[in-house]
Amino acid sequence: MSQYDYDLFVIGGGSGGVRAARIAATHGAKVGIAEEYRYGGTCVIRGCVPKKLFVYASKFSEEFEDAEGFGWSVGERSFSWEKLIDAKDQEIARLEGVYRRNLDRTGVEMHDSRAVVEDPHTVRILSTGQKVMAKYILIAVGASPNVDASLPGVEHVITSNEAFHLADLPDKIIVAGGGYIAVEFAGIFNGLGVDTTLIYRGEEILRGFDMDLRTAVHEEMVKKGIRVICGDVFSSIEKLDNGQLVGRTREGETLEAGQIMFAIGRRPHTADMGLEQAGVELDDIGAIKVDAQSKSSVASIFAVGDVTNRANLTPVAIREGHAFADTEFGGKPWSVDHSLIATAVFSQPEIGTVGLTQEQALARTPNLDIYKSSFRPMKHTLSGRDEKMLMKLIVDSDTDKVLGVHILGPDAGELAQALGITLQMGATKADFDRTIAVHPTAAEELVTMREPTERLRG
Ligand code: NDP
Repeated sequence: MSQYDYDLFVIGGGSGGVRAARIAATHGAKVGIAEEYRYGGTCVIRGCVPKKLFVYASKFSEEFEDAEGFGWSVGERSFSWEKLIDAKDQEIARLEGVYRRNLDRTGVEMHDSRAVVEDPHTVRILSTGQKVMAKYILIAVGASPNVDASLPGVEHVITSNEAFHLADLPDKIIVAGGGYIAVEFAGIFNGLGVDTTLIYRGEEILRGFDMDLRTAVHEEMVKKGIRVICGDVFSSIEKLDNGQLVGRTREGETLEAGQIMFAIGRRPHTADMGLEQAGVELDDIGAIKVDAQSKSSVASIFAVGDVTNRANLTPVAIREGHAFADTEFGGKPWSVDHSLIATAVFSQPEIGTVGLTQEQALARTPNLDIYKSSFRPMKHTLSGRDEKMLMKLIVDSDTDKVLGVHILGPDAGELAQALGITLQMGATKADFDRTIAVHPTAAEELVTMREPTERLRG
């Protein structure tokens, strides 16, 4: 008889935790899991999934306009935020049910409660006070939105958490931040007819992405009617008697809106978890330090997903959870390669990217050929919409290897998935050139760019 109640106890029922729990259970482990809010975690409940549904909703305004160029007369349009929220909530409830059923089917015991670590092998379930012993503990509690706590009036702002449940859509909104969430939500609100401003502290939005994509998406957002302010931040926020918010900025602007949403990054959700007392080392933002096998500084405690602040993306958390479970319970050791991760930003237009940016590539190798094409997608020849698509290949001219592909335009995220496979296989420019185009698509541009637009040497 084992001295433990469980072989594995997972704290956090999001993408990474659920994957690890299910895979460990299918390998024969006795698994328990605790979730304090809703199974599915940030991605399913208040992240990727509802966000993408909102993106779909917000695109119809342009679709209706574009239809006229193709002969359609679209009658009077109206939009109900309430209906969208209801439909979204139903879908999220359905998905949460799927998560629960899948855990149940694999025999994972669910505890609907917050749980904390007592010591390297003990977890305390707060709703009952019960202490359970586990051979391994996996922390997969994710991260939560940051706000700037020192900002006067910060109590009036919302984050993406609240944006999914607003009672009413405001007439005007200001989104603070220039990362994934700020850019995606600015597009959503703008598409739904809200007068939208984005305010970002740096020189150009989407730091970390290729500069050509950053400037191009900025331009397209402005064309769609979003005001983008760079190089500025809020210095105070005040709520008027009529409920309107007035934000003052460091550069002296006064911005009024019904809502101000902060999307300035997320912080690992490790406070008051008992981790430090158990000997688990955290970094300076509270992320759990782990090795390539997701093991913390305590041999029996592992961590996956955003709580480790490696690559904060759902598919990465899922991989990390899977690798942990296969390694510890399935006798199949492997670890996640974080070096090449294709990703999409559901901005409008969309971004799809894989591999190195031009700046990153230059830091690694001096000789690059850049292939760049900016064109009007075929649909907009008739719709009349002034929107450009951008495709960029970054090639190491010494080895011919494609180091990065960056796309701005319709379905860029879908393209990034397929391109991720080619880069994973080490594709060269010659491989791209040998590939016959699919016509008529926008993607054919990827295999028909013959001459570099820029040759960088030395
Ligand atoms: P990001 O880290 O992407 O961006 C944070 C933004 O806030 C940056 O522009 C940053 O500026 C700015 N910022 C940080 N601190 C401050 C501050 N004190 N005052 C003003 N601005 C500040 O975080 P997000 O919140 O957008 O997203 C969180 C995570 O969620 C991301 O890591 C992303 O991986 C993930 N995510 C992924 C999505 C996808 O795959 N499509 C969608 C949504 C989220 P600076 O650049 O100058 O540091």
